[in-house]
Amino acid sequence: MTKKEFKAESKRLLEMMVNSIYSQREIFLRELISNASDAIDKMYYRALTDDTIAFNQEDFFIRVSADRDARTLTIEDTGIGMNEEELERNLGTIAESGSLAFKKQTETEDGRDIIGQFGVGFYSAFMVADHVTVETKSAGQTEAFRWESNGTDGYTIEPGTKETTGTTITIKLKENTEDDSFDEFLEEHRLKQIVKKYSDFIRYPILMNVTVH
Ligand code: ADP
Ligand code: MG
Repeated sequence: MTKKEFKAESKRLLEMMVNSIYSQREIFLRELISNASDAIDKMYYRALTDDTIAFNQEDFFIRVSADRDARTLTIEDTGIGMNEEELERNLGTIAESGSLAFKKQTETEDGRDIIGQFGVGFYSAFMVADHVTVETKSAGQTEAFRWESNGTDGYTIEPGTKETTGTTITIKLKENTEDDSFDEFLEEHRLKQIVKKYSDFIRYPILMNVTVH
């Protein structure tokens, strides 16, 4: 399987995320939940115009799960998902959006103080992750795909096994160091606090489960 390189502009933003010392790194969860919510919105609009898709309110949710033994955090949504080409385009380049504005701003200022004001986007996961896996299946498609990356050295896309429409993002938290710990992101009470702080307005249910083996 060949590893693909990120586009140059993405690479720079990613490097900033990987090496981040931002105190507001908790916002990665806001970004992933906001993407999950956007994906469900898209499903909703698709359903409005496509009679073959039913939108049952109860089928649409976002689930945050932590596995303390595996040190993983998973954000799952039942949104529209991505096909292979969308995975490549959306996660391989910076969207013309908040993340691009953030990158431009940090070319002139120190990003440390302003990161919270921006929609930094998907790459913010690398503030806390040393490996990210995206399992996704696009609405109406039979094939699923898996995108994986350790950060700046590139990403791979291969056929996946996801059976239901939507996206599941698994974050392998960085190892703790002598003076920095990522364990807070495995604690239910802390995760709830972050969700409450940044994602209170999200219109879909946000479920949570923390597994302790
Ligand atoms: P933005 O949300 O501002 O567009 P992001 O970096 O957060 O930028 O996400 C980039 C793109 O990746 C999104 O626009 C979307 O197309 C796609 N994407 C990210 N997460 C998901 C998801 N959970 N489901 C479907 N598409 C997603
Ligand atoms: Mg986003």
